[in-house]
Amino acid sequence: MRLGHISLSHFNSTSFRKIDQIIVLLLLNSRKPSGRYCTSLDTIRAYTILVDMYTRKRAVGHLDADCFYVSAERVRDPFLKGKPVGVLGNQGACVIAKSYEMKAAGVKTGEPIWDAVQKCPDGIYVKRDFRWYETLSRSMLEVMRRLSGHVEYYSIDEFFFVAEPGPGQSFQDLAVAMRQTILEELDLPVTVGIARSRTLAKLISDSAKPFGAKAVLEKEHEEHLLARLPVTEISGVAKRRAKRLLPWGIASCLDLAKADRGLVRKLLTATGEALWWELNGEPTGEIHSARPRHKALSRGGSLGESTADPHRLYAWLVRNLERLIEELRYHRVMPGKLTLWVGYRDGIPGEGQTRLAVPTDRFDLLLEALRPCLRRAWRPKHPANRMHLIAEDLTDRDTAQGGLFSPHDPRAEALADVKQRINERIGRFAVRSGATLPLKSIYDDGANGYDICDVRGKICF
Ligand SMILES: [Mg+2]
Repeated sequence: MRLGHISLSHFNSTSFRKIDQIIVLLLLNSRKPSGRYCTSLDTIRAYTILVDMYTRKRAVGHLDADCFYVSAERVRDPFLKGKPVGVLGNQGACVIAKSYEMKAAGVKTGEPIWDAVQKCPDGIYVKRDFRWYETLSRSMLEVMRRLSGHVEYYSIDEFFFVAEPGPGQSFQDLAVAMRQTILEELDLPVTVGIARSRTLAKLISDSAKPFGAKAVLEKEHEEHLLARLPVTEISGVAKRRAKRLLPWGIASCLDLAKADRGLVRKLLTATGEALWWELNGEPTGEIHSARPRHKALSRGGSLGESTADPHRLYAWLVRNLERLIEELRYHRVMPGKLTLWVGYRDGIPGEGQTRLAVPTDRFDLLLEALRPCLRRAWRPKHPANRMHLIAEDLTDRDTAQGGLFSPHDPRAEALADVKQRINERIGRFAVRSGATLPLKSIYDDGANGYDICDVRGKICF
Protein backbone atom coordinates (compact mmCIF):
# COMPACT_ATOMS: atom_id res chain seq x y z
CA MET A 1 0.00 0.00 0.00
CA ARG A 2 1.35 3.38 -0.85
CA LEU A 3 0.65 6.02 1.71
CA GLY A 4 2.54 9.17 0.91
CA HIS A 5 6.01 8.02 -0.04
CA ILE A 6 6.23 4.89 2.10
CA SER A 7 4.97 1.53 0.96
CA LEU A 8 3.51 -1.20 3.11
CA SER A 9 5.82 -3.78 1.54
CA HIS A 10 8.67 -1.69 2.96
CA PHE A 11 7.24 -1.81 6.44
CA ASN A 12 6.40 -5.49 6.18
CA SER A 13 10.10 -6.16 5.83
CA THR A 14 11.16 -4.24 8.94
CA SER A 15 11.31 -5.77 12.37
CA PHE A 16 8.37 -3.64 13.57
CA ARG A 17 4.99 -5.29 13.47
CA LYS A 18 1.42 -4.29 12.98
CA ILE A 19 0.13 -1.30 14.94
CA ASP A 20 3.53 -0.18 16.28
CA GLN A 21 4.76 -0.19 12.71
CA ILE A 22 1.81 1.81 11.51
CA ILE A 23 2.28 4.49 14.15
CA VAL A 24 6.02 4.72 13.50
CA LEU A 25 5.41 5.05 9.78
CA LEU A 26 2.66 7.58 10.26
CA LEU A 27 5.21 9.75 12.04
CA LEU A 28 8.00 9.07 9.52
CA ASN A 29 5.68 9.79 6.66
CA SER A 30 4.59 13.06 8.15
CA ARG A 31 8.06 14.41 8.82
CA LYS A 32 8.77 17.50 6.78
CA PRO A 33 12.24 18.54 5.55
CA SER A 34 12.23 21.13 8.35
CA GLY A 35 12.12 18.21 10.81
CA ARG A 36 8.61 19.03 12.03
CA TYR A 37 5.86 16.44 11.93
CA CYS A 38 2.82 17.29 9.89
CA THR A 39 0.48 15.00 8.01
CA SER A 40 -2.56 15.29 5.80
CA LEU A 41 -6.04 14.23 6.82
CA ASP A 42 -6.04 11.63 4.03
CA THR A 43 -2.89 9.97 5.36
CA ILE A 44 -4.33 9.81 8.86
CA ARG A 45 -7.54 8.32 7.48
CA ALA A 46 -5.63 5.71 5.48
CA TYR A 47 -3.57 4.70 8.51
CA THR A 48 -6.68 4.60 10.70
CA ILE A 49 -8.21 2.09 8.29
CA LEU A 50 -5.06 -0.04 8.52
CA VAL A 51 -5.05 0.02 12.32
CA ASP A 52 -8.75 -0.93 12.32
CA MET A 53 -8.07 -3.78 9.92
CA TYR A 54 -5.44 -5.22 12.20
CA THR A 55 -7.73 -4.91 15.19
CA ARG A 56 -10.60 -6.46 13.17
CA LYS A 57 -12.88 -3.43 13.36
CA ARG A 58 -12.71 -3.25 9.59
CA ALA A 59 -11.87 -5.65 6.79
CA VAL A 60 -11.76 -5.73 2.98
CA GLY A 61 -14.86 -6.59 0.99
CA HIS A 62 -15.34 -7.69 -2.61
CA LEU A 63 -18.71 -7.52 -4.30
CA ASP A 64 -19.19 -9.09 -7.70
CA ALA A 65 -22.43 -9.25 -9.72
CA ASP A 66 -23.44 -12.77 -10.83
CA CYS A 67 -23.39 -13.16 -14.65
CA PHE A 68 -23.78 -9.39 -14.81
CA TYR A 69 -24.63 -8.79 -18.47
CA VAL A 70 -27.34 -11.48 -18.33
CA SER A 71 -28.69 -10.16 -15.01
CA ALA A 72 -28.77 -6.65 -16.49
CA GLU A 73 -30.83 -7.91 -19.45
CA ARG A 74 -33.18 -9.62 -16.98
CA VAL A 75 -33.69 -6.36 -15.07
CA ARG A 76 -35.32 -4.76 -18.10
CA ASP A 77 -36.93 -7.95 -19.42
CA PRO A 78 -38.07 -10.26 -16.58
CA PHE A 79 -39.21 -12.78 -19.22
CA LEU A 80 -35.55 -13.83 -19.40
CA LYS A 81 -35.44 -14.87 -15.72
CA GLY A 82 -34.79 -18.57 -15.18
CA LYS A 83 -34.15 -19.18 -18.91
CA PRO A 84 -30.86 -19.97 -20.65
CA VAL A 85 -29.60 -16.58 -21.88
CA GLY A 86 -26.46 -15.69 -23.81
CA VAL A 87 -25.18 -12.17 -24.41
CA LEU A 88 -23.39 -11.73 -27.73
CA GLY A 89 -20.43 -9.49 -28.44
CA ASN A 90 -17.99 -9.14 -31.32
CA GLN A 91 -20.66 -8.03 -33.76
CA GLY A 92 -22.84 -10.91 -32.66
CA ALA A 93 -20.23 -13.58 -33.42
CA CYS A 94 -19.64 -15.02 -29.95
CA VAL A 95 -21.07 -15.44 -26.47
CA ILE A 96 -19.43 -12.98 -24.06
CA ALA A 97 -21.67 -13.79 -21.07
CA LYS A 98 -24.04 -16.61 -20.22
CA SER A 99 -26.61 -17.44 -17.57
CA TYR A 100 -26.06 -20.39 -15.22
CA GLU A 101 -28.78 -22.26 -17.16
CA MET A 102 -26.81 -21.85 -20.39
CA LYS A 103 -23.57 -22.79 -18.62
CA ALA A 104 -25.27 -26.04 -17.55
CA ALA A 105 -25.88 -26.79 -21.25
CA GLY A 106 -22.10 -26.66 -21.79
CA VAL A 107 -21.80 -23.22 -23.42
CA LYS A 108 -18.54 -21.46 -22.61
CA THR A 109 -17.67 -17.76 -22.58
CA GLY A 110 -16.02 -16.76 -25.84
CA GLU A 111 -17.68 -19.59 -27.77
CA PRO A 112 -18.82 -18.80 -31.34
CA ILE A 113 -22.59 -18.41 -31.67
CA TRP A 114 -22.92 -21.32 -34.13
CA ASP A 115 -21.40 -23.75 -31.58
CA ALA A 116 -23.47 -22.29 -28.73
CA VAL A 117 -26.73 -22.72 -30.67
CA GLN A 118 -25.91 -26.40 -31.24
CA LYS A 119 -25.29 -26.99 -27.54
CA CYS A 120 -28.20 -24.87 -26.36
CA PRO A 121 -30.83 -24.60 -29.12
CA ASP A 122 -33.48 -23.29 -26.68
CA GLY A 123 -31.21 -20.47 -25.53
CA ILE A 124 -32.18 -16.84 -25.93
CA TYR A 125 -29.37 -14.83 -27.50
CA VAL A 126 -29.29 -11.05 -27.08
CA LYS A 127 -26.85 -8.42 -28.29
CA ARG A 128 -24.74 -6.60 -25.70
CA ASP A 129 -25.68 -3.09 -24.64
CA PHE A 130 -22.83 -1.56 -22.67
CA ARG A 131 -24.62 1.74 -22.19
CA TRP A 132 -27.37 -0.03 -20.21
CA TYR A 133 -24.83 -2.11 -18.26
CA GLU A 134 -23.02 1.08 -17.30
CA THR A 135 -26.27 2.67 -16.07
CA LEU A 136 -26.82 -0.29 -13.72
CA SER A 137 -23.17 -0.39 -12.76
CA ARG A 138 -23.30 3.26 -11.63
CA SER A 139 -26.48 2.55 -9.64
CA MET A 140 -24.63 -0.31 -7.91
CA LEU A 141 -21.76 2.07 -7.14
CA GLU A 142 -24.22 4.56 -5.60
CA VAL A 143 -25.76 1.91 -3.33
CA MET A 144 -22.29 0.66 -2.37
CA ARG A 145 -21.18 4.18 -1.45
CA ARG A 146 -24.14 4.44 0.87
CA LEU A 147 -23.13 1.18 2.58
CA SER A 148 -19.38 1.82 2.83
CA GLY A 149 -17.32 4.99 3.17
CA HIS A 150 -14.59 3.63 0.89
CA VAL A 151 -15.56 1.94 -2.36
CA GLU A 152 -13.30 1.15 -5.29
CA TYR A 153 -14.92 0.89 -8.71
CA TYR A 154 -12.76 -1.99 -9.86
CA SER A 155 -14.59 -3.11 -13.00
CA ILE A 156 -18.09 -2.69 -14.45
CA ASP A 157 -19.50 -5.29 -12.03
CA GLU A 158 -16.85 -5.62 -9.32
CA PHE A 159 -16.19 -3.43 -6.32
CA PHE A 160 -13.71 -3.53 -3.45
CA PHE A 161 -14.75 -1.78 -0.26
CA VAL A 162 -13.77 -1.22 3.33
CA ALA A 163 -16.13 -3.45 5.31
CA GLU A 164 -17.14 -1.83 8.57
CA PRO A 165 -20.00 -3.51 10.42
CA GLY A 166 -22.49 -1.30 12.22
CA PRO A 167 -23.17 -1.61 15.98
CA GLY A 168 -24.12 -5.18 16.89
CA GLN A 169 -23.47 -6.38 13.32
CA SER A 170 -20.92 -9.05 12.41
CA PHE A 171 -18.92 -9.14 9.16
CA GLN A 172 -21.13 -12.02 8.06
CA ASP A 173 -24.28 -9.94 8.75
CA LEU A 174 -22.78 -7.11 6.73
CA ALA A 175 -22.06 -9.38 3.74
CA VAL A 176 -25.64 -10.67 3.77
CA ALA A 177 -27.10 -7.18 4.18
CA MET A 178 -25.12 -5.82 1.22
CA ARG A 179 -26.20 -8.65 -1.05
CA GLN A 180 -29.83 -8.13 0.01
CA THR A 181 -29.80 -4.36 -0.49
CA ILE A 182 -28.47 -4.64 -4.07
CA LEU A 183 -31.07 -7.32 -4.85
CA GLU A 184 -33.97 -5.32 -3.39
CA GLU A 185 -33.03 -1.97 -4.87
CA LEU A 186 -31.69 -2.99 -8.27
CA ASP A 187 -32.95 -6.54 -8.83
CA LEU A 188 -29.36 -7.69 -9.38
CA PRO A 189 -27.98 -10.90 -7.81
CA VAL A 190 -24.46 -10.39 -6.43
CA THR A 191 -21.91 -12.29 -4.34
CA VAL A 192 -20.05 -10.67 -1.44
CA GLY A 193 -16.79 -11.83 0.17
CA ILE A 194 -15.19 -10.22 3.24
CA ALA A 195 -11.67 -11.02 4.44
CA ARG A 196 -8.42 -9.62 5.80
CA SER A 197 -7.04 -8.59 2.38
CA ARG A 198 -8.19 -7.90 -1.19
CA THR A 199 -6.83 -11.16 -2.60
CA LEU A 200 -8.53 -13.17 0.13
CA ALA A 201 -11.82 -11.26 -0.27
CA LYS A 202 -11.84 -11.95 -4.02
CA LEU A 203 -10.98 -15.63 -3.56
CA ILE A 204 -13.82 -15.93 -1.05
CA SER A 205 -16.44 -14.23 -3.24
CA ASP A 206 -15.29 -16.22 -6.32
CA SER A 207 -15.74 -19.46 -4.43
CA ALA A 208 -19.10 -18.43 -2.96
CA LYS A 209 -20.75 -17.75 -6.37
CA PRO A 210 -23.58 -17.49 -7.28
CA PHE A 211 -25.56 -15.34 -4.83
CA GLY A 212 -23.17 -16.00 -1.96
CA ALA A 213 -22.33 -13.89 1.08
CA LYS A 214 -19.38 -15.01 3.15
CA ALA A 215 -17.06 -13.42 5.67
CA VAL A 216 -13.90 -15.36 6.53
CA LEU A 217 -11.60 -13.75 9.06
CA GLU A 218 -10.29 -16.61 11.18
CA LYS A 219 -6.95 -18.09 10.12
CA GLU A 220 -8.18 -21.66 10.41
CA HIS A 221 -11.22 -21.00 8.25
CA GLU A 222 -9.01 -19.15 5.75
CA GLU A 223 -6.55 -22.04 5.50
CA HIS A 224 -9.36 -24.52 5.00
CA LEU A 225 -10.55 -22.48 2.02
CA LEU A 226 -7.07 -21.83 0.56
CA ALA A 227 -6.21 -25.54 0.65
CA ARG A 228 -9.06 -26.28 -1.77
CA LEU A 229 -8.13 -23.63 -4.34
CA PRO A 230 -5.43 -24.04 -7.01
CA VAL A 231 -3.02 -21.08 -7.33
CA THR A 232 -4.53 -20.21 -10.72
CA GLU A 233 -7.66 -19.03 -8.86
CA ILE A 234 -5.68 -15.96 -7.74
CA SER A 235 -6.05 -13.11 -10.19
CA GLY A 236 -2.50 -12.40 -11.32
CA VAL A 237 -1.41 -16.05 -11.30
CA ALA A 238 -1.95 -17.48 -14.75
CA LYS A 239 -0.81 -20.87 -16.07
CA ARG A 240 2.72 -19.63 -16.83
CA ARG A 241 3.31 -18.53 -13.23
CA ALA A 242 1.66 -21.65 -11.84
CA LYS A 243 4.11 -23.74 -13.89
CA ARG A 244 7.03 -21.98 -12.24
CA LEU A 245 5.66 -22.82 -8.79
CA LEU A 246 4.85 -26.49 -9.39
CA PRO A 247 8.43 -27.93 -9.16
CA TRP A 248 8.56 -26.51 -5.61
CA GLY A 249 5.40 -28.36 -4.63
CA ILE A 250 3.30 -25.19 -4.69
CA ALA A 251 -0.05 -26.08 -6.23
CA SER A 252 -2.76 -24.72 -3.93
CA CYS A 253 -3.27 -21.21 -2.56
CA LEU A 254 -2.38 -22.57 0.87
CA ASP A 255 0.91 -23.99 -0.47
CA LEU A 256 1.73 -20.52 -1.75
CA ALA A 257 0.78 -18.84 1.54
CA LYS A 258 2.97 -21.32 3.49
CA ALA A 259 5.92 -21.16 1.06
CA ASP A 260 9.12 -19.30 1.88
CA ARG A 261 8.62 -15.61 1.08
CA GLY A 262 12.11 -15.26 -0.42
CA LEU A 263 11.47 -18.19 -2.74
CA VAL A 264 8.14 -16.72 -3.87
CA ARG A 265 9.87 -13.43 -4.62
CA LYS A 266 12.55 -15.24 -6.61
CA LEU A 267 9.96 -17.19 -8.63
CA LEU A 268 7.28 -14.52 -9.10
CA THR A 269 9.11 -11.21 -8.47
CA ALA A 270 7.78 -8.47 -6.19
CA THR A 271 4.22 -8.94 -7.57
CA GLY A 272 4.26 -12.52 -6.29
CA GLU A 273 5.64 -11.43 -2.95
CA ALA A 274 2.75 -8.96 -2.60
CA LEU A 275 0.34 -11.85 -3.26
CA TRP A 276 2.12 -13.86 -0.55
CA TRP A 277 1.49 -11.07 1.99
CA GLU A 278 -2.13 -10.79 0.87
CA LEU A 279 -2.69 -14.55 1.20
CA ASN A 280 -1.32 -14.29 4.70
CA GLY A 281 -3.90 -11.64 5.51
CA GLU A 282 -1.68 -8.56 5.23
CA PRO A 283 -3.18 -6.02 2.82
CA THR A 284 -0.71 -4.57 0.31
CA GLY A 285 -3.09 -2.51 -1.79
CA GLU A 286 -5.36 0.25 -0.62
CA ILE A 287 -9.00 0.76 -1.59
CA HIS A 288 -8.97 3.49 -4.22
CA SER A 289 -12.08 5.59 -3.68
CA ALA A 290 -10.99 7.77 -6.60
CA ARG A 291 -9.28 6.57 -9.73
CA PRO A 292 -5.54 7.37 -9.82
CA ARG A 293 -4.39 9.47 -12.79
CA HIS A 294 -4.17 7.57 -16.08
CA LYS A 295 -0.66 6.74 -17.29
CA ALA A 296 -2.05 5.76 -20.68
CA LEU A 297 -5.35 5.91 -22.53
CA SER A 298 -6.30 3.49 -25.24
CA ARG A 299 -9.10 2.66 -27.59
CA GLY A 300 -9.63 -0.27 -29.93
CA GLY A 301 -10.77 -3.86 -29.83
CA SER A 302 -12.14 -6.38 -32.27
CA LEU A 303 -12.57 -5.46 -35.94
CA GLY A 304 -15.51 -7.86 -36.23
CA GLU A 305 -15.05 -9.48 -39.61
CA SER A 306 -11.31 -9.74 -40.29
CA THR A 307 -10.02 -7.65 -43.17
CA ALA A 308 -6.98 -7.46 -45.45
CA ASP A 309 -8.34 -4.33 -47.17
CA PRO A 310 -6.04 -1.37 -46.38
CA HIS A 311 -8.91 1.16 -46.80
CA ARG A 312 -10.97 -0.68 -44.21
CA LEU A 313 -8.01 -0.93 -41.85
CA TYR A 314 -7.40 2.81 -42.27
CA ALA A 315 -11.11 3.41 -41.53
CA TRP A 316 -10.74 1.46 -38.26
CA LEU A 317 -7.68 3.53 -37.37
CA VAL A 318 -9.69 6.74 -37.90
CA ARG A 319 -12.64 5.39 -35.86
CA ASN A 320 -10.37 4.43 -32.97
CA LEU A 321 -8.55 7.77 -33.19
CA GLU A 322 -11.85 9.68 -32.95
CA ARG A 323 -12.77 7.59 -29.90
CA LEU A 324 -9.34 8.19 -28.38
CA ILE A 325 -9.56 11.96 -28.91
CA GLU A 326 -12.95 11.97 -27.17
CA GLU A 327 -11.23 10.37 -24.16
CA LEU A 328 -8.18 12.65 -24.27
CA ARG A 329 -10.46 15.70 -24.26
CA TYR A 330 -12.59 14.32 -21.43
CA HIS A 331 -9.50 13.87 -19.24
CA ARG A 332 -7.97 17.13 -20.53
CA VAL A 333 -4.67 15.49 -21.48
CA MET A 334 -2.53 15.36 -24.62
CA PRO A 335 -0.22 12.46 -25.59
CA GLY A 336 3.49 12.67 -26.31
CA LYS A 337 3.67 9.12 -27.65
CA LEU A 338 1.33 6.96 -29.74
CA THR A 339 1.39 3.22 -30.40
CA LEU A 340 -0.70 1.43 -32.98
CA TRP A 341 -1.04 -2.32 -32.55
CA VAL A 342 -2.74 -4.53 -35.15
CA GLY A 343 -3.61 -8.17 -34.50
CA TYR A 344 -3.78 -10.64 -37.40
CA ARG A 345 -5.62 -13.90 -37.77
CA ASP A 346 -2.35 -15.89 -37.94
CA GLY A 347 -1.35 -14.56 -34.49
CA ILE A 348 1.64 -12.45 -35.64
CA PRO A 349 0.93 -8.82 -34.70
CA GLY A 350 2.17 -5.63 -36.34
CA GLU A 351 3.15 -2.48 -34.47
CA GLY A 352 4.04 1.13 -35.18
CA GLN A 353 5.10 3.77 -32.70
CA THR A 354 5.67 7.49 -32.86
CA ARG A 355 6.78 10.28 -30.57
CA LEU A 356 5.06 13.60 -31.17
CA ALA A 357 7.20 16.73 -31.50
CA VAL A 358 4.58 18.61 -29.47
CA PRO A 359 1.79 16.98 -27.39
CA THR A 360 -1.56 17.54 -29.06
CA ASP A 361 -5.15 16.24 -29.19
CA ARG A 362 -5.88 17.61 -32.66
CA PHE A 363 -7.34 15.07 -35.09
CA ASP A 364 -5.39 16.20 -38.19
CA LEU A 365 -2.01 16.16 -36.42
CA LEU A 366 -2.54 12.84 -34.66
CA LEU A 367 -3.72 11.18 -37.87
CA GLU A 368 -0.70 12.52 -39.72
CA ALA A 369 1.54 11.03 -37.02
CA LEU A 370 -0.30 7.71 -37.14
CA ARG A 371 -0.17 7.12 -40.90
CA PRO A 372 3.47 5.92 -40.87
CA CYS A 373 2.60 3.76 -37.84
CA LEU A 374 -0.12 2.02 -39.85
CA ARG A 375 2.35 1.44 -42.68
CA ARG A 376 4.69 -0.28 -40.21
CA ALA A 377 1.91 -2.27 -38.50
CA TRP A 378 0.29 -3.35 -41.77
CA ARG A 379 1.09 -6.85 -43.05
CA PRO A 380 -0.18 -6.86 -46.67
CA LYS A 381 -2.60 -9.64 -47.62
CA HIS A 382 -2.89 -10.86 -44.02
CA PRO A 383 -6.42 -10.56 -42.55
CA ALA A 384 -6.39 -8.34 -39.44
CA ASN A 385 -8.92 -8.87 -36.65
CA ARG A 386 -7.93 -6.52 -33.78
CA MET A 387 -6.54 -3.04 -33.33
CA HIS A 388 -5.42 -0.98 -30.33
CA LEU A 389 -4.39 2.63 -30.24
CA ILE A 390 -2.47 3.64 -27.11
CA ALA A 391 -1.68 7.21 -26.00
CA GLU A 392 1.14 7.64 -23.47
CA ASP A 393 3.31 10.37 -21.91
CA LEU A 394 0.16 12.31 -21.12
CA THR A 395 0.52 16.04 -20.47
CA ASP A 396 -2.08 18.19 -18.78
CA ARG A 397 -3.96 20.12 -21.46
CA ASP A 398 -4.39 23.17 -19.26
CA THR A 399 -0.75 23.47 -18.24
CA ALA A 400 0.87 22.33 -21.53
CA GLN A 401 3.13 25.03 -22.85
CA GLY A 402 3.16 25.45 -26.61
CA GLY A 403 6.68 24.58 -27.80
CA LEU A 404 8.67 26.58 -30.30
CA PHE A 405 7.09 24.62 -33.15
CA SER A 406 3.66 24.38 -31.56
CA PRO A 407 1.34 24.16 -34.56
CA HIS A 408 -1.26 26.70 -33.49
CA ASP A 409 -4.02 26.62 -36.10
CA PRO A 410 -7.23 28.49 -35.12
CA ARG A 411 -9.20 26.96 -38.03
CA ALA A 412 -8.38 23.34 -37.12
CA GLU A 413 -8.96 24.03 -33.43
CA ALA A 414 -12.36 25.63 -34.12
CA LEU A 415 -13.32 22.64 -36.28
CA ALA A 416 -12.35 20.19 -33.52
CA ASP A 417 -14.47 22.15 -31.03
CA VAL A 418 -17.51 22.21 -33.32
CA LYS A 419 -17.17 18.46 -33.95
CA GLN A 420 -17.00 17.77 -30.21
CA ARG A 421 -19.97 20.02 -29.39
CA ILE A 422 -22.23 18.56 -32.09
CA ASN A 423 -21.42 14.99 -31.05
CA GLU A 424 -22.04 15.79 -27.40
CA ARG A 425 -25.41 17.31 -28.26
CA ILE A 426 -26.76 15.12 -31.06
CA GLY A 427 -25.01 11.84 -30.41
CA ARG A 428 -21.71 10.10 -30.58
CA PHE A 429 -20.24 9.93 -34.13
CA ALA A 430 -22.96 12.28 -35.53
CA VAL A 431 -20.06 14.15 -37.14
CA ARG A 432 -17.17 11.93 -38.08
CA SER A 433 -14.40 11.68 -40.62
CA GLY A 434 -15.32 10.64 -44.18
CA ALA A 435 -12.46 8.11 -43.95
CA THR A 436 -14.76 5.95 -41.79
CA LEU A 437 -17.28 5.45 -44.65
CA PRO A 438 -16.13 1.85 -45.36
CA LEU A 439 -17.46 1.02 -41.86
CA LYS A 440 -21.05 2.12 -42.56
CA SER A 441 -22.50 -1.17 -41.27
CA ILE A 442 -20.57 -0.78 -37.98
CA TYR A 443 -21.94 2.74 -37.41
CA ASP A 444 -25.47 1.71 -38.45
CA ASP A 445 -25.63 -0.91 -35.67
CA GLY A 446 -26.40 0.85 -32.38
CA ALA A 447 -24.77 -1.99 -30.38
CA ASN A 448 -21.37 -0.71 -31.58
CA GLY A 449 -22.00 2.84 -30.38
CA TYR A 450 -20.66 2.22 -26.89
CA ASP A 451 -18.01 -0.21 -25.69
CA ILE A 452 -16.87 -1.63 -22.37
CA CYS A 453 -13.73 0.53 -22.43
CA ASP A 454 -15.96 3.62 -22.70
CA VAL A 455 -17.15 3.04 -19.12
CA ARG A 456 -15.08 5.55 -17.14
CA GLY A 457 -13.61 5.38 -13.66
CA LYS A 458 -12.80 1.67 -13.44
CA ILE A 459 -9.48 0.70 -11.90
CA CYS A 460 -8.88 -2.57 -13.74
CA PHE A 461 -7.99 -0.83 -17.04
MG1 LIG B 1 -19.25 -10.71 -12.14
